[in-house]
Amino acid sequence: MKRQFHIQAPGREPIVIDINDKESVNIRVDTAPTAFGHVGPSTFRIDGLRWAGKDHFHLGWGAGEFALNDIFSVALVEDNLTATPLEKEERYTAPEKNCLFCHKTQSNVRYLIDSGVLARICDECVAKCQRAIDERKFTTGSDNVISVKNKKAWWRRKKK
Ligand SMILES: [Zn+2]
Repeated sequence: MKRQFHIQAPGREPIVIDINDKESVNIRVDTAPTAFGHVGPSTFRIDGLRWAGKDHFHLGWGAGEFALNDIFSVALVEDNLTATPLEKEERYTAPEKNCLFCHKTQSNVRYLIDSGVLARICDECVAKCQRAIDERKFTTGSDNVISVKNKKAWWRRKKK
């Protein structure tokens, strides 16, 4: 016996999905397709993700529309029905992270420091920033803000 989702969607054969530790299944129902000005029927989409190391897969089992009085049912069961083949299985490889100062990618720098909140800097830029702090000659505006807007001039300066 396997753990399975049995999904009965309007106008479709029952969809059977084996529960797998490395996959998530999302069932999305849009009940208000007019919310963004688009007029159309209510819709559903059954999709998911499978994790595989650094890559993951976008999965799809089906999508469709709702009409008035349609019933959509989802049951978690122990059963041995044959799983419904995927309609979509696309590998997705996340792009390399890069330094947001010099834009070099992680494979082109020794270290990339990632704050986790859209702020990343490489070891080379950290060294350049430290040099600018040590030199204290490129401040603009307030005393404690070192501008790196004029990157070319700033970047080309040689260490004294
Ligand atoms: Zn950098």
